[in-house]
Order: sequence, then structure tokens, then C-alpha cells
Amino acid sequence: MKTFYFDNNATTAVAPEVLEAMLPYLSDFYGNPSSMHSFGGRVGSAVEQARAHVAALLGAEPEEIIFTSCGTESDSTAIHSALQTQPEKRRLITTRAEHPAVLNVAQYCERQGYHVVYLGVDSKGRLDQDEYLRVLTDDTALVSIMFANNEVGNIYPIQRMAEAARERGALFHTDAVQAVGKTPIDLSHMPVDMLSLSGHKIHAPKGIGVLYARKGVRFRPFLRGGHQEHGRRAGTENVPYIVGLGAAARFAVGHIQEERIAVARLRDKLEQGILERVPDCIVNGDVENRLPNTTNIAFKNVEGEAILLMLDRFGICASSGSACTSGSLEPSHVLRAMGVPFNYAHGSVRLSLSRYTTEEEVDHVIECLPGVIEALRAISPYKD
Ligand code: PLP
Repeated sequence: MKTFYFDNNATTAVAPEVLEAMLPYLSDFYGNPSSMHSFGGRVGSAVEQARAHVAALLGAEPEEIIFTSCGTESDSTAIHSALQTQPEKRRLITTRAEHPAVLNVAQYCERQGYHVVYLGVDSKGRLDQDEYLRVLTDDTALVSIMFANNEVGNIYPIQRMAEAARERGALFHTDAVQAVGKTPIDLSHMPVDMLSLSGHKIHAPKGIGVLYARKGVRFRPFLRGGHQEHGRRAGTENVPYIVGLGAAARFAVGHIQEERIAVARLRDKLEQGILERVPDCIVNGDVENRLPNTTNIAFKNVEGEAILLMLDRFGICASSGSACTSGSLEPSHVLRAMGVPFNYAHGSVRLSLSRYTTEEEVDHVIECLPGVIEALRAISPYKD
């Protein structure tokens, strides 16, 4: 059966040009980039070329790019570094809508005695800027706010929030794992001190990430050992994956504008097609200000998991807005923070597209989904 892949915020396909760029570094060019000989030196040059491509995608300098193992490592490193380099400051500000890669670290810091402020969101998932300015005190070590939300796609006003943090003398980190490659980011004009990205969300493989650390920002490594990455992240470089990420970044630089428009058109067609055919459903999040590839739709009185299982029978891959917590299905922390009514939050489904999504695939979902919802509502224990 053909796969209709609408789960690109979970992970993306490795692009052909990425795989092609990687293969020589999994076979012929296996030298260690730190070696003195020219065989290793050639590999070292490939790593530096990849670094330049990632820097270009972010509007950064190559020396500001640190290769890590994933977005999660980048997030953890950023938060721990900011707290350790400013021991006199005890406050960390983040949001209720963060990915667990930030949220769980913040909760850990709280248990270590830090004062953590979790900014709330409104019913569309938007942050309250007045609340932010109120809690941004002089003892704030770090503000960590995601660039774009993985569940509903909201894009947050990072420029403005980073400027406010800088005025207060706080460092600013953004988890841009979902934003990079989907919306333009120019760090040369943004007072962001640290930024996390992940390869597998932009058509590079799983297991490679980047932490951007602005030149001059005080930094404590998370992994200590060898001198790799200028002592900021020890461990022999994952060369094939770094090269792959470089190729993915290079492609993104050249195609981001046209891709945004093309993907948004298909996403809008998908969303409209569903809204027109299925009664009692709403779009979660801030439709005016979100990623071009994401739609999160709440279907009243049905279970998201049941929808996913039935879509799977048609070859359609999507994600739900629920997580299995201690044996029972709970709406996600993001939907709960937004206050989405229970009978809608439970039936929330995220569909996320990519440059490889086709019109035919969108039509297939529009054709299958209404019948799935109708069948599930007929047997649903939830009624008005
Ligand atoms: N942050 C966000 C917003 C994400 O969506 C994800 C992955 O889903 C991560 C962090 C974690 O990235 P990784 O899977 O590379 O650890």
C-alpha cells in the first residue's frame, strides 16, 4: 500500500541530494577530521563546508555553529550553559507550549532550586507580551522560547522577545527545530544568543543537530573530552551526518521562499477541504501566524488515536494531539495550555506537509477523512 506521509513535524524523508552527499563519507572518506594527515584533512574540510552551509541558512558565522547529536542535546546544552555561566542569576523563563526537550529540562532546573516561570498561552496558543515583560526581571539568566510550535505550528515573536531579554541583560535561547527551513531566520539581525536545530526535520538524517552560540556568549560545554568543535562539544564528529545536514541546509537556502508558498498552498487546500466536508471541527492555533506546512484540526467527540488508526488503514500517516500518560489518553500539554475544550482537544489531529507532499496525496486525505470521522462519531460514547 502506498504511504501518504503527513507527519513531517515528527520527522522528514532524507532528501536524495543529502544521501548522495553523505555516501562517500560512509565509505571511501572515513578519516578522522582531527588527524594531521591529508586523508583526515579532506574530511575536516567537508565538515567545515557543512558548517558554512548551516551558518548561511541562519545568517550566522561558521564559528558560531556547534554540531551536536540532536535538537534535544542542543536544548539541554543551551539551558545548562546559560545557568552555569551566570550562577548569580536564578530565574529561567520559558513557555507552557515548549517541546519536552525544553520543558523537562526546565522542570529539572526547578527541582534544583531555580525559579522557573512558564508563560501561559491564550486560546490560539499566543503568548502574552505584557506578562513576559512583567516577569523579565534583572535576575533572569535565560529566556528559552521556541521559534515555532511543533503541534499547532504557531510562530512566536522571537525578534521582539529577544530584544526585551537583551535590554534586561538576560540571555535568549530559541528552540528553532520546527522553524528552520520552513520560515526565514536571519540571526545577523536578531539578538538571539543561542538557537537549536535538528537535522531530521529538514530532510537530513535523525541523530544530527546544531547549537548556534553567538560569538562572545559565555559557554559551558555539556560534553567534555576532546577538543572537537573548539572544545564546545567533545566527541569525534559524526562526519557523514554533518555533511548530510550541510547539504540539507544548502538546499534550504536556495529553495525556502518558493517552498513556503507551494507547501502553504497545499496545506490550505487540505485544511479547507476538510473544514468544508466535516461538520463540528475547528483549527487549533494561530492561523494568521503559523508554519506553512502545519495544520492541527480538532474533531468534536472523537478520539484522536482512533482517527489515526483508521487513517493508517488508508496509508495515511498523521499525529494526534494526545499523549498516553499513565495508561489514559490525555490531550497534549499544548492543547491543555490553550484551553481547547475537552471534547475537541481529544480529537485533535496534526497533519504536517513537506516539499514532497503532492496534490494527489492531499486529495486522498480530503477523500478519506470525512468517512473516518463519520464512522467514529457513529460509535462514539461522547455525545452532546
Ligand atoms: N524541539 C522541537 C520543537 C521538536 O519538535 C523536536 C522534535 O520533535 C525537538 C526539539 C527534539 O529534536 P530531536 O528529535 O532532534 O532531539
